[in-house]
Amino acid sequence: MEKTSLAPLDLTAILAKRPLVISGPCSAETEEQVLATASQLAATGKIDILRAGIWKPRTRPGSFEGVGTKGLPWLQQAKKISGLPVAVEVATGKQVEDALHFGVDVLWIGARTTVNPFSVQEVADALRGVNVPVLIKNPINPDLELWIGAVERVAKAGIENIGLIHRGFSSYGNTEYRNAPMWHLAIEMKRRHPGMLLINDPSHICGRRDILAEVAQKAIDLDFDGLIVESHIDPDNAWSDAKQQITPAQMGAMLEGIIWRKEDIDSEQLHANMEKLRAQINQLDDELMLLLGQRMKIADQIGQYKKDNNITILQTNRWNAILERAYARGEKIGLSKEFITKYFDAVHMESIQHQNKIMNS
Ligand code: PEP
Ligand code: MN
Repeated sequence: MEKTSLAPLDLTAILAKRPLVISGPCSAETEEQVLATASQLAATGKIDILRAGIWKPRTRPGSFEGVGTKGLPWLQQAKKISGLPVAVEVATGKQVEDALHFGVDVLWIGARTTVNPFSVQEVADALRGVNVPVLIKNPINPDLELWIGAVERVAKAGIENIGLIHRGFSSYGNTEYRNAPMWHLAIEMKRRHPGMLLINDPSHICGRRDILAEVAQKAIDLDFDGLIVESHIDPDNAWSDAKQQITPAQMGAMLEGIIWRKEDIDSEQLHANMEKLRAQINQLDDELMLLLGQRMKIADQIGQYKKDNNITILQTNRWNAILERAYARGEKIGLSKEFITKYFDAVHMESIQHQNKIMNS
């Protein structure tokens, strides 16, 4: 995965690279910092695009809100010395205009903007008639429709090159991650937009350095097309997101350590074996569905007894007993408590729906 700088810059070819790697500081702070980061990243030979926040949407006022338009010439200079195209977050029509005026190559819409259709529309309107790739981060809250809506607004403005960034979702009381990955939402987004670039942002998922590589590897294992990772020449003293940034050298080392898997390889034997295993999985899934159908029929019978004897559908003690029993059995056969909880919740809800129907019949 050695990367060479292309001159003149062929953005279409760069964006088609797999894995696509974007890196750079959370925020542009000073010209020296931007230039040093850019040249150190380019020296790793593993980076495709330089990122830097110029306008920073901060949760609380009084935090560093970005250097603003004066940082854009620094990016032009960084591009010149590193040969890397540059990417910037935009949240308003004016920011789009300024970024394009200063030759920014790739724009991205941040998580705090994707949540707001008014803002996304304003950005989309400013993009009309412009040919620039736009990456759209998932909204802060786990709402796929908002993410899809943002993609649609930007597409309707005529932008052809749209990519997705999975940066995790805010969840109350979550401690391990800054933003819970909720991988299934990114996977579902990929299913709805096959062929659209999907990259993972482990920096904003983790919020800390120590689990960055683990999350990046997971994304690659899940067939993401690339990564966007924050890097800084002096991470501890970064003006924003200090805890999650790594040095360009650490970035290079992290990329070196990742096992890059291919979705498919050309081996007939491998395919034949996979087919056999997939057939077994299909068979087991069919049987599980059949068993679930039978289970619901029994729930229906119980529902009938409950109706005849005028007792409530939800019997809390019984439900706790089912769960305790399942946790104990699950542990023995390697099923996590989290999975058991989700699975039984779903089964339980379906049973309740069945019994509701009977009660109302
Ligand atoms: C960022 O990329 O620095 C940023 C603000 O990210 P997000 O929109 O994912 O919070
Ligand atoms: Mn950041």
